[in-house]
Amino acid sequence: MLDILALLQVSAAIIGIGPFVFHWMRMKKNSKKSMAIPPEPSSWPSLTIVLPVWNEEMVIKNKLEDLAIQDYPKDKMEILVIDSDSSDSTMEIFHKWKSDSSHGVKVKSIQMPSRLGKSAAINRILVEPLNTDAIVITDADALLAEGALRRIGRWLSNPNIGAVCGSQQILGDSDSNHFIDEKTYRSFYHDIRIGESTVFSSPIFEGSLAAYRNSLVLGHQIDATYNADDSQLAVLINRLGSRSIMDPELCFFEYLPSTKEAAAIRRLRRANGLVHLFSRNRPSKFSTINRKFSKIMQIEAWIHLVMPFLVLFSFSIMLLHISISTSLVIMKESLQTTHALLLLIDSLFLISLLFGNKLRLSQILRSFFISQWALLVANIEMYRGIDFHIWEQDIESRESLVED
Ligand code: GDP
Ligand code: MN
Repeated sequence: MLDILALLQVSAAIIGIGPFVFHWMRMKKNSKKSMAIPPEPSSWPSLTIVLPVWNEEMVIKNKLEDLAIQDYPKDKMEILVIDSDSSDSTMEIFHKWKSDSSHGVKVKSIQMPSRLGKSAAINRILVEPLNTDAIVITDADALLAEGALRRIGRWLSNPNIGAVCGSQQILGDSDSNHFIDEKTYRSFYHDIRIGESTVFSSPIFEGSLAAYRNSLVLGHQIDATYNADDSQLAVLINRLGSRSIMDPELCFFEYLPSTKEAAAIRRLRRANGLVHLFSRNRPSKFSTINRKFSKIMQIEAWIHLVMPFLVLFSFSIMLLHISISTSLVIMKESLQTTHALLLLIDSLFLISLLFGNKLRLSQILRSFFISQWALLVANIEMYRGIDFHIWEQDIESRESLVED
C-alpha cells in the first residue's frame, strides 16, 4: 500500500512538474543570450497608442500626460482612447485634456455603446481603418519608463518582429507577503518569457504595454468571451507567421493590488484568461507554421492545463503517505528506509512551505503553489463556464499611482 502511494506521489510529481522545470531551465539559459535591438531607424514607425478605459477618472489625466511626455516624434504618434460607456467623469476629463493643445499630440476617441469588456473594445479597434504602422495598447494604470516608445519603434523596424511587449516593474509595499510572492513568481515568469522570445516567440504577453504591427492584426478579431486580449493577439501574430517578443528593457510601472485578497482576485482572473487561451488554441495548429513556436505552445499548454491537476494529485497522495507512515512510526512499527526518507523529505517540504517568506527556497515553493492553486481554480472555473471578460478594477492600486 505504502509502496503504491510513494510510487504514485513521485511519478505524478515528476510527470507534472518535470516539463515545467526543464522548460524553465532551458529558457533561463536562452534568456542570457541577448536579442539585439535594431538601431534607431532613419524614419520612425507611426504609432496609434490605444488606451482602453472603463471608469478611470482617477488616473486618466496622469496617463495622458505620461504618454505626452514620451520622447517620440509627435507627427508619428496619436492617442486613441476607447471608452466602454464609463459611468464616471473619465470622458469629461479626457475631452478637457484633448482641447488643451499645449501637449501637441493628436488625440481621438471611440465610444462603445455599453461595457462589453476589454477584449470587445480591442476588437472594435481592430476594425478601425488606421493609417499608422502599429497599435500600442497600454493600460490606464500603467506608467511607461523613459524611452519606452522609442524602444518599440526600434523593434518594429525589424520586419520579422510582429509584436513586442514590455516587462512589468511592480510597485508596492515590498515587505508584504503577497508582494514577495508576486516578485518571486515574476522572476520565473520573466526568465521564461524572455527565453521564449529569444528562441522564437512568447505566447504570453503583458497587455499593460504591448505593440502590434497593424499590417498583421487589423481586420482580425479576438475571442471577446474571455480576457487575455494581450496573449490572444500574441498568438494571432504567430498564427500569421510572425514573432511576438518580450523586451526585458522595455519597462512599465504598475502597482500591485495592496491587499492579499485583491492580488488573489487579479491572479485568478489572469490565470482564467490563460487557461482559456491554451485550451482554445491547440498547439498542433502551429506545427505547420513554425516548429519552434508549436513546441513552446505545447509546453505552455501542459503547464497551464495539466500540471496543476498532477500537482494536486501528487500533493494529496503525499498527505496520505505522511499520515500513514507517521502512524506506523507512532505505533512503533517498522518503516522501510525509502519510506522513512520520503517522510523526511515530505515533512521538510511541508515545513518550508509553511515557513513563510524567510528562506528563498520557501519563497519559491510558496509562489509555485500559489500559482498552481490559481491555475487549478481557473481550470475548474473554465469547465464550469466561468470567464472574466468583465471585471471590477482595483481602486487602491490606482490611488497609490496618483499619490506618487
Ligand atoms: P488588470 O491590470 O489586469 O488588473 O486590469 P485593469 O482593471 O487595470 O484593466 C486594464 C485596462 O483595461 C484599464 O485601462 C481598464 O480601464 C481597461 N478596461 C477594463 N475593462 C474595460 C472595458 O470593458 N472596456 C474598455 N474599453 N476598457 C476596459
Ligand atoms: Mn491594471
